[in-house]
Amino acid sequence: MSGASALLVCRDVSESIRFYEENFGFRTTVRFPPTGAGVVEFANLVLGENVVMFISHAAMLEDCKRKGDRESPKIVSKNVWGVGVNLYFSVADVDDMYKKVKGKGARIVYDIGDKQYGSREFSVSDNSGYLLTFAQMKEFLKCGSCGMPMTKKGDFGAGDTENKFCVHCTDESGKLKSRQEIKDGMVHGLMKMKNLSLQDAVREVDESMNKMPVWKG
Ligand SMILES: [Zn+2]
Repeated sequence: MSGASALLVCRDVSESIRFYEENFGFRTTVRFPPTGAGVVEFANLVLGENVVMFISHAAMLEDCKRKGDRESPKIVSKNVWGVGVNLYFSVADVDDMYKKVKGKGARIVYDIGDKQYGSREFSVSDNSGYLLTFAQMKEFLKCGSCGMPMTKKGDFGAGDTENKFCVHCTDESGKLKSRQEIKDGMVHGLMKMKNLSLQDAVREVDESMNKMPVWKG
């Protein structure tokens, strides 16, 4: 497990497992107690890098009792599950996920669309009322010469978003500069930015430029 993951209270963990596996393709990696050993109290599900955990309402109440916690059971009543909670799952192909989810008949809350903040996403309500958003971050185009992400018009050579190279690697007309000219610029920039010696900066720039198709062999 890496990063933060949510523990969601639900009525029936088995039902949630089914819902997440069938609709979204999650995989159950932990189930307690194990299959066949009684009602499921806890489960850990993963989809790529995304992790979500479930605990049954009954198991949560038991746990609170053990801990002497009298407040949580009042807050997490079965009537307010999911309210105000929106979980974001990052996926590689959101259109594919959308098709899959729609085909299964899950309730789409917000239809698929491109967002200003660079993501394409849709939201769906789960079987307990939690709002789930599946999102795919748009990949920025990278300069084919130096690898710099080009996120706005001014980053592209000659301000032309069709240009494969960035403004630093091209001349005013948008034409790619010579390898030596670009290399000199990058070496200087790197020396300043990382406080490197000339020798180290040259080595680093050569290494990264050799990885770019346009400068290969
Ligand atoms: Zn560049």
